[in-house]
Amino acid sequence: MTISCHITEARRLQALRKLNLLDTPPSEAFDRITRMAARFFNLPIAAVSLTDTNRQWFKSRVGVEHTSIPRMQAPCGAVADSRDVLVIADLLADAGYRDSPLAAGGVRYYAGAPLITQDGHCLGALCVLGTAPRETTPEELGSLQDLAGMVMAQIEMMHAIGRVDPVSGLPNRTQFIEDFEDMQKDRPSGEWRLAILINLATPEQLAHAARAMDSVYLDELVNDAAAWIRDELGDGRKVYHVATTQFALLAAPGITLDACLPVIEAKIAGAIASIKTSFVATPAVGVAPFEVGTADCLSVLRRAQSVVQDALERASHVAVYSAHEDRLYRRRFTLLGDFARALASGDQLRLVYQPRIDIASGLCVGAEALLRWNHPTLGAIGPAEFIPFIERSRLAQATTAWVLETALEQQRAWREAGMALQLSLNVSAANLLETDLAARITEALDRRGLPRDCLELEITESAIMEQPARAHATLEAIAASGVHLAVDDFGTGYSSLAYLQRMPADVVKIDQSFIRELESDPRQQGLVKAMISLSQDLGHRVVAEGVENEAVLAFLREAGCDEAQGYWFARPMEVDVFTGWYVGRIVAQAQQLALNVAARPAAGDGSFTTGAPAASQSR
Ligand code: C2E
Ligand code: MG
Ligand code: MG
Repeated sequence: MTISCHITEARRLQALRKLNLLDTPPSEAFDRITRMAARFFNLPIAAVSLTDTNRQWFKSRVGVEHTSIPRMQAPCGAVADSRDVLVIADLLADAGYRDSPLAAGGVRYYAGAPLITQDGHCLGALCVLGTAPRETTPEELGSLQDLAGMVMAQIEMMHAIGRVDPVSGLPNRTQFIEDFEDMQKDRPSGEWRLAILINLATPEQLAHAARAMDSVYLDELVNDAAAWIRDELGDGRKVYHVATTQFALLAAPGITLDACLPVIEAKIAGAIASIKTSFVATPAVGVAPFEVGTADCLSVLRRAQSVVQDALERASHVAVYSAHEDRLYRRRFTLLGDFARALASGDQLRLVYQPRIDIASGLCVGAEALLRWNHPTLGAIGPAEFIPFIERSRLAQATTAWVLETALEQQRAWREAGMALQLSLNVSAANLLETDLAARITEALDRRGLPRDCLELEITESAIMEQPARAHATLEAIAASGVHLAVDDFGTGYSSLAYLQRMPADVVKIDQSFIRELESDPRQQGLVKAMISLSQDLGHRVVAEGVENEAVLAFLREAGCDEAQGYWFARPMEVDVFTGWYVGRIVAQAQQLALNVAARPAAGDGSFTTGAPAASQSR
């Protein structure tokens, strides 16, 4: 055998194995055809004979006891090799088969038609055998070939079941995986290819469609999209329907990202423009480059599916997988699972406290509770990393509940020790959608005998603006209960002045991005002055966040800002450190006051402005 014959035979065997037919039980669908063949030729023996490496295995048989015979010298093996019809009128008269096991078993006549797949591989033969020499008419031969065609149709139909999506009629995920593996064997290793995933709708649109429309709507959406994709691609590129509203394909070999992206972007832009008129869906495309030979099909699919989420947030609706972003995403995903365990663990989460200082008097009037997470293997993880995705998950409510309980326990302990502080907690957008939030908070306060106004809730502008109407109702209920409200990170969101006017907040906290470099930026100074006077005009107290030096504090005092919070006074501190810091500050203030009184009338305004950051303050 030549090398190319070896390769052809290897592919033929691969095609046969892929069909998962070998050594399966008999099936009436095949037996019916075999019986027809025997009857048509009026012969005692007929079989669907598949050519395996060393044997002819009978998927269906009439008049034969055994299920397989050796491939060597079997005429069906010759049909598989030649992929052509073979007729032997008399085996004993044929030099090639005179001494074959079949002839020894009394077989004299053989006719076999090849079983050829759509890809051109010959799996074996549909054959009829007789115990006497016989001639064959052209009609008989034609019928045998027709019956062989029916066998192949049956084989391919059985194979297609479970591989074709019933809605779109396109090959499905299973087929994608199978073809992907075949492609990896066929194409040179090291070549870069692009997997392209087309997503039809956002999860919200799907949920909306499921609630508002019947399933026909989704089927139509899928079929329209499948037709559109097929039209755009033309013949020759195979598209797979890999999930309810997702299609995948591989770009042709040699197509680079640079060449591919503008084309995809243009096509998606066109689709979005035309889709708007017919149905509400947002197509987006995720592209995942991969290296042929070493790629794992499922992870390529996963990458394309994960990057399609990013695509939905891009103007172009197209995004390319990047290993860096994927690592971040996977870290986030792991952390989300770990955080659920942290909430239950009891020893991974804690609150630290950062003081809020009344600028005029220098008194510490409150503290902001800030969440800290000590991960069992990754160590300290900052809220800037975990809070954004916790807030968007189902854990948002449990997290705030944990913070509320822990902070109020601390508040009770401080009150009992004679420390009269207002405690501020951060709550997220998801909390504002809880209709019983106000009731649960007041219940937690009442249970501990704490006054309502010893608690303040900080809410960012953007959290409010996510669902203004529902948020507003919750905020009104909280304000009515006597618990205080603060607009956090003011200036970074998009809330209108009109909204600020209606907002039942007591406090506005100017975001630290406006404060930190205040002393060197005159435009920033103008802006902060305006924010302070505007908020005060609307009846709010103003807190500046991120005060890091005395010059900034002096500016804020001059501008009439009410309170300040920042590293200049103290970083967020562990409970014990905070308590020590607070007591130390009161003592120092009392001493300062005594000095001022003694030095009167030469004393200043009596305010206490600085506080050297404590060495053990938490970050
Ligand atoms: P935030 O509510 O605006 O809290 C202020 C953040 O600024 C804190 O960061 C604090 O450590 C930091 N900070 C305070 N003074 C200064 C300063 O002078 N300079 C600088 N550079 N930073 C200062 P932290 O603790 O890392 O918290 C980050 C954000 O995470 C918070 O911003 C808040 O939005 C969120 N967060 C923290 N704890 C919780 C929580 O319990 N629940 C919720 N929902 N969010 C929380
Ligand atoms: Mg805050
Ligand atoms: Mg803030």
